[in-house]
Amino acid sequence: AVERLYLGMDFGTSGARFALIDKQGAIQAEGKREYPLYMSNEHVDWVRSWKETLFSLLEDVPVHLRPLIGSISVDGTSATTMIVDSVTGEPLWRPLLYNEGCPDALPMVKSVAPPNHTVCSASSTLCKLVSWWNSDASNKSAAILLHQADWLLWLLHGKIGISDYNNALKVGYDPEIDSYPPWLLSQPYAQILPSVKAPGTPIDYLSEGIRTQYGFPQDCVVCTGTTDSIAAFLAARATKPGEAVTSLGSTLAIKLLSTIRVEDARFGVYSHRLDDKWLVGGASNTGGAVLRQIFTDKQLAELSEQINPAQPSPLDYYPLQSVGERFPVADPKMAPRLHPRPDDNVQYLHGILESIARIEAKAYNLLQELGSTPVQQVFTAGGGSKNETWIKIRERVLGLPVRRAAQTEACYGAALLALKGCSPDEI
Ligand code: ADP
Repeated sequence: AVERLYLGMDFGTSGARFALIDKQGAIQAEGKREYPLYMSNEHVDWVRSWKETLFSLLEDVPVHLRPLIGSISVDGTSATTMIVDSVTGEPLWRPLLYNEGCPDALPMVKSVAPPNHTVCSASSTLCKLVSWWNSDASNKSAAILLHQADWLLWLLHGKIGISDYNNALKVGYDPEIDSYPPWLLSQPYAQILPSVKAPGTPIDYLSEGIRTQYGFPQDCVVCTGTTDSIAAFLAARATKPGEAVTSLGSTLAIKLLSTIRVEDARFGVYSHRLDDKWLVGGASNTGGAVLRQIFTDKQLAELSEQINPAQPSPLDYYPLQSVGERFPVADPKMAPRLHPRPDDNVQYLHGILESIARIEAKAYNLLQELGSTPVQQVFTAGGGSKNETWIKIRERVLGLPVRRAAQTEACYGAALLALKGCSPDEI
């Protein structure tokens, strides 16, 4: 039999990428596109930009590989919200981006949701929905809410109103009972919520028009997606409870697979569902942004080579870009601590890297204290993950194996979801 391939697309904050993989996970093709910039009524026309980018990516898939593609999945930015017509799929409102806030809706959301629920933040999908509900006069009975990934997938399969439980978390979906909770279902706007499936579930065949235009096979299926940060986690292929991914970019974010769900609003810790497990996450304000304020990337690489990672550094810092920390210490008034600064830059950097490693260790300890499966193995991603010296320091401080993840792109994680969902018999 001819080997099948699986297509994943990531619609991230700065652009879109695709990865085409085989059953073993080897990448057969990949590519990326920037979002073209269109304006409409003084706002960026994201609808046009995303749609065009989706089809540009399909065009970028090598023609000779397209007939082998068994399934497609897409991830998008979390809490990027669209209100569309439930028949035509045409947007009824400007899409609201992941980081946009709707504080006007917060009092109403807080009055119906349990205290400290994920939806009680101005940028949550539910606040966006309620803000639209309260302000827009257009026909509410014809509307349906979709997340960015749901809408892009809809363009491919044509069945309106389907989401996944990762994207739906911030609108209030409860993945534990696998349903919207009663407090949400009793609201008038509950009628526009999409139905929800597990990420990587086959939805329908790729629509005929697209299939014939681009040369995809007749049985190519489109599967539910996830959010961009979960797709990036999936890319690292951490699959067992106790396996974790630390992302060392501008900030430090950790995600740990656990058999137990953990939530703590004080620390901004919450869990996404991944089939029969939980993906527990938290994000600290420390990370690479502080390093970049002090050193160039070239200096970072050169100085790191001179550090002896087996030697503990006595310098105890708390590197922050500005005042305030949430996790693993909840203290909005915490001040950055980067003193005393030794004359020797090698010692200074050693102190900073070691201090960030201590914060990482404290973060994993806190998750365990809050009830998660203990961490056993750390994969690492982001700009800081290429620093081998830091990896050795972290192994010593964490007392755990730390490995660079082989794949870190969210589109690769989306391709793994396509692979998981490639079962046309389930449609
Ligand atoms: P983001 O996408 O969050 O902006 P990246 O994943 O691109 O960040 O990582 C960028 C960060 O990586 C920068 O803040 C920089 O300080 C850090 N970085 C770059 N090179 C190194 C290095 N050799 N050692 C440690 N950190 C590094």
